[in-house]
Amino acid sequence: MKGFFDTGIEFLKGVGPNKADLINKELEIFNFGDLIQFYPFRYEDRTRFYRISEINERLPNIQVRGKIGKIETLGTGSRKRLVASLYDDTGSIELVWFKGIKWVSRKLKTGVAYAVFGKPTRYGGKNNIAHPEIEVYTAAHEKQGFLQPVYHTTEKLKRGYLDSRAIAKLQKQLLEAAKSRIVESLPPHLMNDLGLIPKAEALWHIHFPSDSKKLNQAQLRLKFEELFYVQLRLLKLKLARIERFRGKVFRETALIKQFYHQHLPFELTGAQKRVIREIYSDMKSGKQMNRLLQGDVGSGKTIVAFICVLAVVGAGAQAALMAPTEILAEQHYRGLKIFAGKMDVEIGILTGSTKQSQRKELHQKLQNGSLRLLVGTHALLEDQVQFNSLGLAVIDEQHRFGVAQRAKLWKKNKDFFPHVLVMTATPIPRTLAMTLYGDLDVSVIDELPPGRKPIETVHRYDQNRLKVFGFIKRQLSAGRQIYFVYPLIEESAKMDLKHLEDGYESIKRAFPEIPVSIVHGKMKSKDKDYEMQRFVKGETRIMVATTVIEVGVNVPNATVMVIENSERFGLAQLHQLRGRVGRGADQSYCILMTDVKISKEGRVRIQTMVRTNNGFEIADVDLKLRGPGDLMGTQQSGVLDLMIADLSKDGKLLKVAREKAAQILETDPELKSVENVNVRRQVAQQKKSSMNWSRIS
Ligand code: ADP
Ligand code: MG
Repeated sequence: MKGFFDTGIEFLKGVGPNKADLINKELEIFNFGDLIQFYPFRYEDRTRFYRISEINERLPNIQVRGKIGKIETLGTGSRKRLVASLYDDTGSIELVWFKGIKWVSRKLKTGVAYAVFGKPTRYGGKNNIAHPEIEVYTAAHEKQGFLQPVYHTTEKLKRGYLDSRAIAKLQKQLLEAAKSRIVESLPPHLMNDLGLIPKAEALWHIHFPSDSKKLNQAQLRLKFEELFYVQLRLLKLKLARIERFRGKVFRETALIKQFYHQHLPFELTGAQKRVIREIYSDMKSGKQMNRLLQGDVGSGKTIVAFICVLAVVGAGAQAALMAPTEILAEQHYRGLKIFAGKMDVEIGILTGSTKQSQRKELHQKLQNGSLRLLVGTHALLEDQVQFNSLGLAVIDEQHRFGVAQRAKLWKKNKDFFPHVLVMTATPIPRTLAMTLYGDLDVSVIDELPPGRKPIETVHRYDQNRLKVFGFIKRQLSAGRQIYFVYPLIEESAKMDLKHLEDGYESIKRAFPEIPVSIVHGKMKSKDKDYEMQRFVKGETRIMVATTVIEVGVNVPNATVMVIENSERFGLAQLHQLRGRVGRGADQSYCILMTDVKISKEGRVRIQTMVRTNNGFEIADVDLKLRGPGDLMGTQQSGVLDLMIADLSKDGKLLKVAREKAAQILETDPELKSVENVNVRRQVAQQKKSSMNWSRIS
């Protein structure tokens, strides 16, 4: 059934097919419902008129009322301008135009009262407003105290006579027609509890707020509604999956006991033990596990994953561990092979560079079930890779994998869905996690293994490089290893590569006795690996590299991470890179090199890194600097396409929304009760809408 809000905007008075086409293309607004949800991005204060004596350059856009006195054209050429004085009984200011001089001067009349709107500035000792909006003052201005909505438009729209004002006009018409048809979408009990205004009122005041209090109420109401329905949807997904997908039951096995008692090289931290318990309780629940394991770099996620693998392997099933890069996959393989060997668990590795003959053998062993743990890269997802009985899939550094890839892993077992554990060292702000992974269970390792010394981070300017080299020399004499990381991005690859190579040469000159490795993305993966191995084994003592060493690489003897042009890296990346040191018993250092001149945002990033080692704090700053969409990349932006709420600012509201959604689902999972009828109606309607929610499950 098509409703009023499904009506195409071409049917709105004053729109017509041409404008409708423009609006479709430029704003992706197709029907009345879309338009009404196209909210202003800011408001201009037209609630009062300023007196001229009150005006100063610190004010934003303001309104003044006054009469025009002298009008004159001054200057020549590009300095030519029209200057009109505007006065009231408290003083005068200048209105200035550099463009459209002829047209404006014809329009302006001395002695007539005008309403003027614009941004005051100060020039030549006088207050003035350049290119103000100006119209003859009328009785309408008298009572028109309001906040004027400002809508995003584009050049094309403006050329088609659809500037912000024109859009406001359309909104007003639409709202008047829609008024009686706006259906309340929140249940009354919730609105009462939280003091939220009705939807119809909120929609009116979001476009045409009578004052700032009403605007705040409207924003609160609409933000809450948006967050509430996202969370309700996520929680419903989670419930549905728990009900629908049975999971194979795996219990703790003798194998685990044996590992614990004979081969575990250290005592697990309290956080590791807790997380393992959480995972076990999922795996023996009979439901399919979908758990996110968050833990800062170096918190010891790998061993947790391996212990969980043992539960599965001990029961005769298979496990897979997928990593985002070959280097990382191989490191996992080498590390786990030692444990697996002691436990008589057959382990294999599959990456893009695995030879055909080896592949054949792997495929066979996977199918007959003799290979118990397969470590690898994306190559694991290929269709030829068929398991005999995949019980657990672990995905490391999950932010590098799309949701579709996760789904592919699910299907690697025909009889039941394998349990899925995704691990990330990218600390995600809680608000974001609640939305992005709102349908997953989350475990957090919030404790580092004992004896780690916090990494000391400093900011140094390029001109002080000699001192930095002096420090490094001392670290080298103490037997330590050093990383130098250079930025390398596609857009400036040639220059970046040159930088890296120059850096490599100067480092070799500065430390002639010391063997140096170099690794970058343009090298063959075989050569990369060879160099990497030399550094891991300690044959080379300095590693000059691009961010290929970013994730997971583990060299406990490396104590200094020098990051060149560090202002060019994002916070998440800086934090990841820093995590490459501080893995052994010795004090480690991170040195952030920059030029003296850096952008304001770059400076905030550097200062944040110097101030804290806490990944969650860093992630919060990152969220504020970049906004949620950018932070997670476009791949997953579907759920982050919020119309009005802002995950970097509305964290508290989000929490309330999630709690309320959970409460409602707990008492009324089918949304059948009378008091939740509004929720049921809204959910049914959302189902029809085009948003592809499967993307996030
Ligand atoms: P990440 O969480 O970054 O993947 P890893 O699993 O690579 O961290 O662990 C980092 C290092 O810490 C490894 O060398 C690992 O052996 C060691 N480690 C892990 N857990 C403990 C522990 N409980 N006590 C001491 N060392 C540990
Ligand atoms: Mg890791």
